[in-house]
Amino acid sequence: MTSFLQTDIFVIGGGPAGATIANRLAGMGHSVLLAEATVFPRHRVDASLPAIIWPLLDAIGVTERIAGAQFIPARAPIVVWPHDRASTLSEEREQTGLYVERARFDAILLEAAALAGVHTIEGARASRPVRDENGGWRTPIKFGANQQTVVSSHIIVDASGGRLLPGAPSRRGPTTLAVFARWDNLSREPQRAILEACENEWLWCAPVGPRELIAIAFIEPKRLSRCDRSAIHSTYLEILGRSRLIGSVLVDARLNEIRICDATCRAAETHAELGYLRVGDASLKLDPLSSQGVPVAIASALQAAVIANTMLRKPQSSSMAINFYDDRQRERLGAHIRKSASLYNKVASHFSSQFWKERSASHEPEPGEHLSPVAALRTDGIIELASSARFEEAAVIEGDLVVQRLGLRLPEWRAPIAYLGPVAIAPLLQSTTFSRSLAAIIIEWRQSFPEDICWSVAHWLWRKGVLEVRGKRTTPPV
Ligand SMILES: Cc1cc2nc3c(=O)[nH]c(=O)nc-3n(C[C@H](O)[C@H](O)[C@H](O)COP(=O)(O)OP(=O)(O)OC[C@H]3O[C@@H](n4cnc5c(N)ncnc54)[C@H](O)[C@@H]3O)c2cc1C
Repeated sequence: MTSFLQTDIFVIGGGPAGATIANRLAGMGHSVLLAEATVFPRHRVDASLPAIIWPLLDAIGVTERIAGAQFIPARAPIVVWPHDRASTLSEEREQTGLYVERARFDAILLEAAALAGVHTIEGARASRPVRDENGGWRTPIKFGANQQTVVSSHIIVDASGGRLLPGAPSRRGPTTLAVFARWDNLSREPQRAILEACENEWLWCAPVGPRELIAIAFIEPKRLSRCDRSAIHSTYLEILGRSRLIGSVLVDARLNEIRICDATCRAAETHAELGYLRVGDASLKLDPLSSQGVPVAIASALQAAVIANTMLRKPQSSSMAINFYDDRQRERLGAHIRKSASLYNKVASHFSSQFWKERSASHEPEPGEHLSPVAALRTDGIIELASSARFEEAAVIEGDLVVQRLGLRLPEWRAPIAYLGPVAIAPLLQSTTFSRSLAAIIIEWRQSFPEDICWSVAHWLWRKGVLEVRGKRTTPPV
């Protein structure tokens, strides 16, 4: 006889995305079961996490544990573009992220989920979920030597990294392989990560421990058409040997096991449907060039937790919540593709190889983006609201629910927006007296918001074409 486990939400996968959404949903009072196919600590490519990781860790309540785990502080990487001298961001602009050993980092997140009340089962592999007669789900899981059970849930969260179901992420850029290894026994302590562009590949190395680093070569799969160990070994060493900076860091260091994994940008067709959510890499797998995979996985999981909570607590708002999440994931993908293409473009102007040509698809500005300089706004020209601007209902997150608020929309936008930071934009614009200079408008807005926020809002609205300047510019900037 088949045994059943009953839960509100079944999370498949215990990586950063799965652990985060499970943790948040348990905190909202739902019963959550999480199945992880491996037994932790499990291997993942060690990661460099930018400073934006800190507010995300705060939101899950793990900041102190991560800060106490002795990971190495990450400063801006040294970037080596072709024909350039190696450079870094200036110290003042630099904020500190982390270089993390993923086995330990992921284990801390999963432990925190268990402490929040999530029932976690490690070494449990889920198979494809099927709908039951009540609109919920039944998912078989296998664990132990030969044990198996079925999980019955209202909601499924696919946090499997994208390997679970058909309809999972498909390719959104050229196929890329990562060939990587840890190097230890370095002659000196590595201080920063290095990002280096070579003619047919790009390279990344980052410190992961005392006198220890990870070095990754991102290449086209055809370079490894002979997939035996010795071919992989010699290709990897030959690539690193040609590098301008990384090769010299590795002199006399000891090479550990060389591994390979897929590093292609991928995205699911749909990120959410009724009772089913994809989070992390199962929804959006970013090009590792961005070093944003883990933060984006956690951010998507935090948002998806609110979507799942809305489905359970306010079922009448489910489709609005699903569309909201789907739009946010599509925006993340669009922004990522534009940013990577502009980086790749810079390199492609120096290297004419197929590797860079394929990766430097044309870099378009966002639709509707205003291209004239923002400085034009800082004049005594007369400011008008664009005649095409409309006010309509928008979905927003408030607390742990998706709700409707009045938003602003231009015809070319996918969806209306309700807030710019703390500013509810539609009420602000509806109460603004236009046909005046921007200085006069900012004085009016300053009664409700600090001046720097008023200027940021004005600049954003200008760039997006929501504000228009009419009349002659006669005086210098305000
Ligand atoms: C070469 C490379 C370098 C990278 N470098 C960085 C970096 O420097 N910085 C950064 O932020 N990101 C980096 N990333 C991206 C980052 O690794 C991912 O974005 C991140 O791991 C996504 O987290 P996740 O929880 O969605 O998926 P994962 O971490 O893949 O977790 C998914 C989990 O689901 C489990 N699972 C799978 N199938 C099942 C099943 N059927 N049943 C139960 N469990 C299952 C898996 O065992 C796994 O533990 C890099 C990626 C690559 C490939």
